[in-house]
Amino acid sequence: DEILSLLETEHGLSPIVVKTWIKPLKLYSVEGKKLYFAVDDSMGSRAIDFINKKMYDMFLVTSIKEVLDDDSIEIVIDVESNLNKTSKEEVTKEEYNEAITKSNLYPKYTFDTFVVGESNKLAHATCLAVADSPGLDKFNPLFLYGGAGLGKTHLMQSIAHYILQHNKNMKVLYVPSNKFTNEIVEAIKKNKTDEFREKYRTVDVLLIDDIQYLIGKESTQQEFFDTFNALHDEGKQIILSSDKPPKEIKTLEERFRSRFEWGVPIDIHAPDYETRMAILKNKVEMNGYKNISDNILEYIANNVTYNVRELEGALNKISVYAELGNITITEDLAKNILKDMISKETNVTITPDLIINTVSEHLNISVDDIKSSKRSQDVANARQISMYLCRKFTTKGLKSIGDVFGGKDHSTVLSNINKVDKRIESDPEYAETIDVIIKKLSPHS
Ligand code: ADP
Ligand code: MG
Repeated sequence: DEILSLLETEHGLSPIVVKTWIKPLKLYSVEGKKLYFAVDDSMGSRAIDFINKKMYDMFLVTSIKEVLDDDSIEIVIDVESNLNKTSKEEVTKEEYNEAITKSNLYPKYTFDTFVVGESNKLAHATCLAVADSPGLDKFNPLFLYGGAGLGKTHLMQSIAHYILQHNKNMKVLYVPSNKFTNEIVEAIKKNKTDEFREKYRTVDVLLIDDIQYLIGKESTQQEFFDTFNALHDEGKQIILSSDKPPKEIKTLEERFRSRFEWGVPIDIHAPDYETRMAILKNKVEMNGYKNISDNILEYIANNVTYNVRELEGALNKISVYAELGNITITEDLAKNILKDMISKETNVTITPDLIINTVSEHLNISVDDIKSSKRSQDVANARQISMYLCRKFTTKGLKSIGDVFGGKDHSTVLSNINKVDKRIESDPEYAETIDVIIKKLSPHS
């Protein structure tokens, strides 16, 4: 009604015209930003000619854009029998397979194989909505974040699959962010930014995975955001994933970071027990695993709790034993097989010693040196990072942290910690190193 009245008030169409030509149009279907209208059969194609000639379709699309407050709406007006043909674009199996390869997708990461539970319900529903109508402002960009192995890549690729299954001519491209960065760097170096732009700015849907690794110089970030803006301006769908929410991606400049929050960032949580069981059962069924009873699945679901990838890993390991030995797995056997994985899973408390050992191992500086007063750059660096992590992951105060490092006073500790804080802000590679150390310390954080 709003649209119809705009046609009269804004565009000066007479009530008779609106009533005769526009009102009888039937909203036939909505695909992404395309609205298909069917003309009444009794009016047939003559009506379409008339509507086009008088540019009523132009008026209509302007009014719709205004009412929906979306500038990239398109409309198609046709007789219903034609719409039956064009709007539901049949995608053949061959076309789909070819498109998957072109788009860089794993064949198995589809909605069909994704198990939905409490922990990922919202993310799943949002992804479905985006898959159904790519490019809507509300979810552009779609930003998915969550810990490693929780299904980000799987979900984002599901959207891509869905779009390819339902749209013949959509160009969809998936790229891990490090590959994307490399391509930008190469393009700039070889003066081939034109080719780069041709490749990335002509897609309808762009998926960039693990955006936290999108680090680099000003010019790299700039090129990325030019791409981002170009696509966004045209209402093309952008889908991003990261292990953390936008504001915590310290390696990106603020003006860039804030753009990721244009759409709603969507959080994927670690799966709860029911979801873990459902994933395991689904996998058993898909792979036709035999000799693995429910109580073994329960044992896995109870003990491997943080990460779907590890959950799958545990099940695979068990299944190998079950198949090779053609034996039924008992709980004791399962316990034994999964020994390594599960001891890693139990929550370890992070102590200064654990931190120093981990830093020592990662940076290849001895524990004694870290605790000493040596000032060589490598050693001082390892010590600073250790202090920083002690502050972050233990409840110890500055003074007792100082004690761990051979009795440094609290102001020394504080200034060391501050140095790390500063450098994290300005040096992406350094921030990354610390991230990796943190992952080693606490694989589930
Ligand atoms: P991320 O990208 O978040 O690190 P992935 O998408 O690679 O995680 O998921 C890790 C593995 O777990 C993949 O094999 C994926 O298929 C599987 N997986 C994750 N979540 C689910 C789920 N809800 N249902 C089925 N499989 C899942
Ligand atoms: Mg991933």
